[in-house]
Amino acid sequence: MILDALTKGMRKTIIAGNWKMNKTPSEAKALLEEIAPLVKDAKCEVVACVPYVDLATAVEATKGTNIKIGAENCHWEEKGAYTGEISTGMLKEIGVEYVVIGHSERRQYFGETDETVNKRTKAALAAGLKPIVCVGELLWERECNITNEVIARQIKLDLWDVTPEEMANVVIAYEPVWAIGTGKTATAEQAEEVCGFIRSCLKEMFGLEVAAAVTIQYGGSMNDQNAAELLKKPNVDGGLIGGASLVAEKFAAIVAATALEY
Ligand code: PEP
Repeated sequence: MILDALTKGMRKTIIAGNWKMNKTPSEAKALLEEIAPLVKDAKCEVVACVPYVDLATAVEATKGTNIKIGAENCHWEEKGAYTGEISTGMLKEIGVEYVVIGHSERRQYFGETDETVNKRTKAALAAGLKPIVCVGELLWERECNITNEVIARQIKLDLWDVTPEEMANVVIAYEPVWAIGTGKTATAEQAEEVCGFIRSCLKEMFGLEVAAAVTIQYGGSMNDQNAAELLKKPNVDGGLIGGASLVAEKFAAIVAATALEY
């Protein structure tokens, strides 16, 4: 715990928006142009993860700014007969840097499993993309007191066969499923407890040095009102933001809250 507080300053703080299925390309351009001047002095990495069809426009619109662009998913094969899928090479070529993998909405509605999360994560890393790997427990799992078991299983399976060197490009997002899009935020203590537990899992798998360097975000109804308290915690190194990332002032306020971390 003390070590986590000491090493917090060494980790990259990342605030990433997850736009989900919102904004057409022209709307994306307008929102990014609104966000850019508000976050230009950010003390953290600022990322916008946007729908596939918005990606090229988003990369173009953020040229010369400090905003990085991420996708919301990728396939694990390089190419082939996978109708409707997008490869890591396609993302890379247009200038995408990050990719969200294993979001609970994909797990819940699109049959994503820890096995496919693992395949996508490894493919993203091999292509030089930075995966934001999402893990989190259902409300029922928390109520049954098996949060740590669920998280440990996801971390072990999702990061299976990822090398310690590759971990330098992996971001973990702890997103309790019951807090996503519900307005129910985990308390800062709950977020810290699980983010700290994730770091202890990473330590077991990859060693202390690697674990101490991994950015672990919290996600789940984070907004301009609760961000500062969450981001102050030693093991919370940023946020994955859904709803609030679609409102320029709210997203910018969360980015600004990273400067108040200590
Ligand atoms: C998310 O989609 O990753 C998320 C955390 O959504 P929200 O902030 O809306 O809860």
